Amino acid sequence: AFRAVVIDKNESGQTVELRDFDEADLMDGDVTVRVSHSTLNYKDGLALTGKAPVVRRFPMIPGVDLVGTVEASSNPEFKPGDAVVLNGWGLGETHLGAYAEKVRVKGDWLIPLPTGLSAEQAMAIGTAGYTAMLALMALERHGLRPDRGPAVVTGAAGGVGSVAVALLAKAGWHVIASTGRPEEADYLKGLGAAEIIERSELNGPVRPLAKERWAAGIDSVGSTTLANVLSMTRYHGAIAACGLAGGMDLPSTVAPFILRGVSLLGIDSVMAPKPLRLEAWNRLARELDLGKLAAMTSTIPLDQVQEAGRKIVEGRIRGRVVVEIG
Ligand code: NAP
Repeated sequence: AFRAVVIDKNESGQTVELRDFDEADLMDGDVTVRVSHSTLNYKDGLALTGKAPVVRRFPMIPGVDLVGTVEASSNPEFKPGDAVVLNGWGLGETHLGAYAEKVRVKGDWLIPLPTGLSAEQAMAIGTAGYTAMLALMALERHGLRPDRGPAVVTGAAGGVGSVAVALLAKAGWHVIASTGRPEEADYLKGLGAAEIIERSELNGPVRPLAKERWAAGIDSVGSTTLANVLSMTRYHGAIAACGLAGGMDLPSTVAPFILRGVSLLGIDSVMAPKPLRLEAWNRLARELDLGKLAAMTSTIPLDQVQEAGRKIVEGRIRGRVVVEIG
C-alpha cells in the first residue's frame, strides 16, 4: 500500500481523505512511477471540492500532473530510474492520479524530465505553465510578434497567468496584466508586466467593438472578460483562450472576427499530442527565467492539498503551488 489522497462518493456527497491505497487497485498501464512531486491546478481544485464534474470515476486519486522516477516498465521507451513528467491525459479525472506515492500509467503519456529542470521546477511549471507556453506558441504560429503591439494576460496573478506574464515579457512583449488583486501589482511587475489593469475594466458590459488596446492575449478567465478582451483586440490580432476561472460562457459577438479579423485560438493541454508537449517543455526549460519561477512558487505537503484546492477555486492562490510527495 502507499499513501494517496482519495476522493469517493456516497449518498451525502463527495468525501476526500489522505489514506493508504492498495497497489493492486491501481489501473492498467505499462509503466509504474514513484511520484516525487505534483502540483495544484485550478482543475485539481474543482476535483477536490467537487465544484465541477471533473472526476469521472470513483474512487479517484486527484492530481493532473506529476514528476517521478520509473519503478517498473514494460514499455521499451522507459526503464527503471528514468525521471519523467506527466501532464493531463485524463490523470486525476478518468485515471488514478498524481496525489499519491505511486501511479501506474501508459508510457505514451510520459515525457522525459526536460534537461535543465529539477523535479520541483518542473512541477512549479506544471500544467498551468505548460499551458501558458502552448498559448504563446499558438500566438507565434499565428504570426504575432512583439512589434505588433502589447499582449494582455487575464487572471494574471494565477498560475497560468503568472507564467504567461513571465514568458511573454521574456519574449519581448509589452505585457498588460489584468488582475482582481491590485495588491499583487509589484509581484506582477517583478515577473515582467509593464502595465497593470484592474479586472473590473474587463468584466463590465460587452460592446461589439471597443478601443483597440492589444495585439495578442492569453486568457484564463473566459466569460465576459474574454468577450471584452476580444472587443479590444487590434486588427488581425489573436487571443489564446485557456481557461474558465470567470465562467464557461462567452457573451461575445462576431464583430471582432468579421470587422477586425481577430482570431480566437483554442488551447488544450490535456490531449495535446506528444511533439507539441516536447516542444513546449523544451522551450520552458530554455526560456523561463528560473528566478521568476521561484518567485511565483510556494510548496505544500500532500496533507494540505484539500485546503489549497478550496483556495484556488476561490481565486486566492497566487502563482504556482508545488505538492511535495516522495
Ligand atoms: P488559478 O491559479 O486559480 O488562476 C486563475 C486566476 O483567474 C485567478 O488567480 C484570478 O486572477 C482570476 N480569477 C479567478 N476567478 C475569477 C473571476 N470570477 N473573474 C475574473 N477573474 C478571476 O488557476 P490556473 O491553474 O492558473 O488555471 C486558470 C484557468 O485555466 C482555469 O480555468 C483552468 O481550468 C484553465 N486551464 C486550462 C488548461 C487547458 O488545457 N486549456 C490548462 C490549465 C489551466 P487575478 O486574481 O489575478 O485576477
